Amino acid sequence: MREKDSTPGFDTLAVRAGQHRTAEQEHAEPIFPTSSYVFESAAAAAARFSGEQPGNIYSRFTNPTVRTFEERLAALEGGERCVATASGMSAIYASCAGLLTSGDHIVSSRSIFGSTTLLFNNYLGKFGIETSFVAQHDVDAWARAIRPQTRLLFLETPSNPLTEVADISALAQLAHANDCLLVVDNCFCTPALQRPLSLGADIVIHSATKYLDGQGRCVGGAVVGSEAIVGDAVYGFLRTCGPTMSPFNAWVFLKGLETLSLRMQAHCRSAAQLAQWLQQQPGVDRVFYPGLASHPQHELAARQQSDFGGIVSFEVAGGQVAAWKLIDAVRICSITANLGDAKTTITHPATTTHGRLTPEQRAEAGISDGLVRVAVGLETVDDLCADLARGLA
Ligand SMILES: *Cc1c(COP(=O)(O)O)cnc(C)c1O
Repeated sequence: MREKDSTPGFDTLAVRAGQHRTAEQEHAEPIFPTSSYVFESAAAAAARFSGEQPGNIYSRFTNPTVRTFEERLAALEGGERCVATASGMSAIYASCAGLLTSGDHIVSSRSIFGSTTLLFNNYLGKFGIETSFVAQHDVDAWARAIRPQTRLLFLETPSNPLTEVADISALAQLAHANDCLLVVDNCFCTPALQRPLSLGADIVIHSATKYLDGQGRCVGGAVVGSEAIVGDAVYGFLRTCGPTMSPFNAWVFLKGLETLSLRMQAHCRSAAQLAQWLQQQPGVDRVFYPGLASHPQHELAARQQSDFGGIVSFEVAGGQVAAWKLIDAVRICSITANLGDAKTTITHPATTTHGRLTPEQRAEAGISDGLVRVAVGLETVDDLCADLARGLA
């Protein structure tokens, strides 16, 4: 049993943190669909605007439903402050725009979400912020890529779609020895499986669209970290530039957090079973899942994560033709690029999520034409195996 005054456990925080009941004594968290807030007098308005008196002014800055989501996610990640954003991409953009200036340099894993690569190259690049890309697992390559102008190290672990695992503690040490911040996109694990801040990372990024929602309904994102970094630089950008989360979406994510660890356990269990099964299929050349002993960073994943996640990728023999044939044969899996849904999704990264990269960038990232990604949902796992067997035969 817990000590009477000890910090609440993860699941208690997931259900309870951040709720502030109104005078109505509602049990479930309310949605506040309001763009602005009223003041008792002209003097009260002036005090609110000047910052002399804390409180809500306008929902681009703060909203009570959004704040409940922020407080709950901050508690789950073990961060001082969370800022919710309109999407995962705007969480990454708000962090970079808030923290960096022209002339600064980023070192990034080359195994990151396709749009993040485009954001770094095409948009931050346009404003004089350069990015060097390195192999996720090669700590020496990260060290060699750091320059005097480097301010951020950026990674996703496990990565999309190849589930490569980065050593968060080692890269946090490297970052801090060089006066840089380590930013970790924690989309694939969520705090239910991995807490990057406790391993030394400075900022955690989320696409709330994925497992935090868990049922594929809303687009949203979040940035978690210290008050000084997230509360100042990132929130400062958000309130002025405006990629704010809507109160309705915040409410959906808030309810998603309440079942997060139960859902993650189920995703992990089914993904492990599916990965084992895929390994035994003749039409499958290679399976990428951190839970398999054959995964190159299996040991690291076992140390750093409490379980191995819900994403399984595999290479089919026969390149794009075979991959598309497999995808076109499914009747249960949804052909869509989203992930983290109760519904299993199947996608061909080379022609969808990573289709806008050049063939050279794709080759560097290890995205072959025969690669298929499955984000394992909550259906009966035997049905999923049977569904894939149809197109492998
Ligand atoms: C989806 C995703 C993003 C972008 O999030 P959006 O909510 O779609 O903007 C960023 N990183 C990872 C790992 C993702 O899967």
